[in-house]
Amino acid sequence: MSETLQRPYSLPSDLAFLASDVAERVLAPQAEEIDRDARWPREGMQALAEAGLLGLLVPERLGGHGQGLHALAEIAEVLGRACSSTAMCFAMHCVGTAVIAAKATPDQERRFLRPIAEGRHVTTLALSEPGTGSHFYLPRSTFDPDGESYVVNGKKSFITNGGHADSYVLSAVAPGSELDPGTFTCLLVEAGSAGLDWGAPWSGLGMRGNSSRAAGLNRISVPKANLLGEEGDQIWYIFEVVAPYFLTAMAGVYIGIGQAALDLSVAHISGHKFSHTTARLAENPAIVEQIADMWARLERARRLLHYAARLGDAGSPEAATAIFASKIDVADAAVALTNSAMQLVGGRGYQADGQLSRLLRDAQAAHVMSPTTHLLKSWLGRSVLGLPPL
Ligand SMILES: Cc1cc2nc3c(=O)[nH]c(=O)nc-3n(C[C@H](O)[C@H](O)[C@H](O)COP(=O)(O)OP(=O)(O)OC[C@H]3O[C@@H](n4cnc5c(N)ncnc54)[C@H](O)[C@@H]3O)c2cc1C
Repeated sequence: MSETLQRPYSLPSDLAFLASDVAERVLAPQAEEIDRDARWPREGMQALAEAGLLGLLVPERLGGHGQGLHALAEIAEVLGRACSSTAMCFAMHCVGTAVIAAKATPDQERRFLRPIAEGRHVTTLALSEPGTGSHFYLPRSTFDPDGESYVVNGKKSFITNGGHADSYVLSAVAPGSELDPGTFTCLLVEAGSAGLDWGAPWSGLGMRGNSSRAAGLNRISVPKANLLGEEGDQIWYIFEVVAPYFLTAMAGVYIGIGQAALDLSVAHISGHKFSHTTARLAENPAIVEQIADMWARLERARRLLHYAARLGDAGSPEAATAIFASKIDVADAAVALTNSAMQLVGGRGYQADGQLSRLLRDAQAAHVMSPTTHLLKSWLGRSVLGLPPL
């Protein structure tokens, strides 16, 4: 295994090995092609399934690894360092898994969590809507009881793994009660359901392998057995499950991007020779200082993420505040580190359409995926003041 993709931290060694092996063998070699062709990373997701990693967050009694936030942060980093699109697809699958697992019925454990642990099922989150944008916790899609089913109508946007997942964790409200947060509800919609109508293929500035597509929900019939928790539980899911798992997973992916930017800078500077002088760029004080700043910026962000994830795993009341702060910090770090790499790799980096271009574009999603940095700053400030985040 090459030095560049190893992560030394504290993952159980078998999981660290599995993730690094898939990252090096499958994800890294395909990353530029997936970005160029905006292609969903089927082979990477398949390799993660075969390595048993789709069940990272599934309880051990159901065949999974029973891991939590800290392992999620570390695995997402390992994958994000190799291919951020695949890491994002994997991360959204994990967040969807956490939502299902939080209050799964025995039937949902059998139909969804066991197949996930066996690598036979990919899930994802379908919360965002075109009307409410980054206020992803305010769905306007509706669910209406109809015998043993619900009829679901509405629109979703930016569904990562859209059209490729086997199930979609979707949010909706009871018709007529759109303004009452107490009625928000999570449901599992299975792939191929009649009325789940996909929009155009995804073509993003970055994260181009994500298949983050829009979908129309046109009178989809969802069995009542696919209700997650109780009707009206969604706000509980948002702050107890979606926010911690989503923010930690995303932060891991963007730390991976930051590490890749540092790796690229070090490789370029170390190997750089001029023809007019024997002086090495690697010994230039300004360059050395910039590399030092990059290392410190990355490591600070990583330490805050690991601290926050450990607080979350321990159920600490301080966890939410630390997780909000960590995601804000990691987003800033990923953008800063990729910008620094651009400067250090110089005109050659600017010229080439390759890894650096991909990292620069992928890092930008860190601020705009919701909870966006704007929203997180509001949640963070309010929680420091002892106010509820919303
Ligand atoms: C690559 C990618 C993958 C995604 N994957 C998923 C997914 O799998 N599932 C899913 O459900 N969603 C997903 N999303 C959607 C994402 O989480 C957001 O919902 C979406 O990006 C919102 O975009 P918008 O243009 O509607 O934002 P807008 O809501 O229009 O926001 C525009 C700007 O205004 C700011 N803003 C908005 N409201 C406030 C406020 N109250 N205070 C301060 N600033 C504010 C925002 O921070 C943002 O900077 C994805 C998005 C991207 C880009």
